[in-house]
Amino acid sequence: MRILLVGAGLSGAVIARALAEAGHRATVIDARAHIAGNCHTERDAETGVLVHVYGPHIFHTDDEGVWAYVNRHARFRPYRNRVKSTAQGAVYSLPINLHTINQFFGRTMRPDEARRFIEAQADTSIADPRTFEEQALRFVGPDLYRAFFKGYTEKQWGCSPADLPASILKRLPVRFNYDDNYFFHRFQGMPEDGYTPVVASILDHPGIDVHLDTPFVSDMAARHDHVFWSGPLDGYFGYDLGRLGYRSLTFERFRATGDWQGCAVMNYGDPDVPFTRITEHKHFAPWETHEGSVLYREYSKACGADDTPYYPIRLVREKALLSQYVARAAGTGNVTFVGRLGTYRYLDMDVTIREALNAADAFLHAVQANARP
Ligand code: UDP
Repeated sequence: MRILLVGAGLSGAVIARALAEAGHRATVIDARAHIAGNCHTERDAETGVLVHVYGPHIFHTDDEGVWAYVNRHARFRPYRNRVKSTAQGAVYSLPINLHTINQFFGRTMRPDEARRFIEAQADTSIADPRTFEEQALRFVGPDLYRAFFKGYTEKQWGCSPADLPASILKRLPVRFNYDDNYFFHRFQGMPEDGYTPVVASILDHPGIDVHLDTPFVSDMAARHDHVFWSGPLDGYFGYDLGRLGYRSLTFERFRATGDWQGCAVMNYGDPDVPFTRITEHKHFAPWETHEGSVLYREYSKACGADDTPYYPIRLVREKALLSQYVARAAGTGNVTFVGRLGTYRYLDMDVTIREALNAADAFLHAVQANARP
């Protein structure tokens, strides 16, 4: 069969590969001039630093199959994400751990003491936290919430944490020991030469053609037996019911020499600092040495028609609109909607790959079932 994959990011590449290995012809198109979607990495021409062009991406998963898959396509180096936060005139360790708690409150508590101390501040009347704010007040209490989450989240999402779902905060652990690893997954690492070579390796199969600088036009669908769409779900329908809301990011890129901030990611919790974080990209590849440095000051904003969508906003208005688009998508034959934009969900890379493998499997089973006499 002739399959069209719209988008050369992780979803498109993984599905194309699975279909090509099963003997189908896969054509992958992307409107951009490069593969790998928002995971795209490239070397800065002046300093040689490997830059995460669309913001930092750190691979972490509990899915052994996905970990084995990516390791077939690149050498992964061990990498631990250890984030810092500048808030209220001091630098703290994130995610909130015993060091953060002891520094913030000027104490020397052991784990059990800290647990009791935080529990005493927490609003235990919130039995079932539904919003981001309720989740924070229930599990870390008002002081830590104000220092690390309230201002940052208002900047990041452009709305009150009282309007956001608790699930966003549940991405972050709170620890009563000195473990400052941002993630708790078993497998964590960075591809040695960045993510674009990973995606290039996945796409490297004689059954796959890749066309860059190639936006989708509707008559392409007619020339293929099936389309996998990893672009924006509403974009497929020409936004005719209205636009699903996204947050977009602006990166103020600057160069420095040596080590400018001493870590890969410095968050800024205070509301009067206009950016959310600064990333120093050389620290994402600590096995490399570069004299120069490349940094991104990261600002979040509402996503306009010409901006790159990053984070789906799943508030009440969007959920209602989403269910209308999902119904449309379900009724659209020969098109499968995949990935973060195609399904309008806040997906990490590992989940994106797992879902892409599943989508390819489901498609291949359906093709086989139809072919049976
Ligand atoms: N967050 C925060 N302060 C921080 C880091 C994160 O308030 O210093 C909140 C913010 O709302 C963010 C969410 O926690 O959207 C999830 O954080 P994560 O680091 O997973 O966000 P990502 O790296 O995907 O932007």
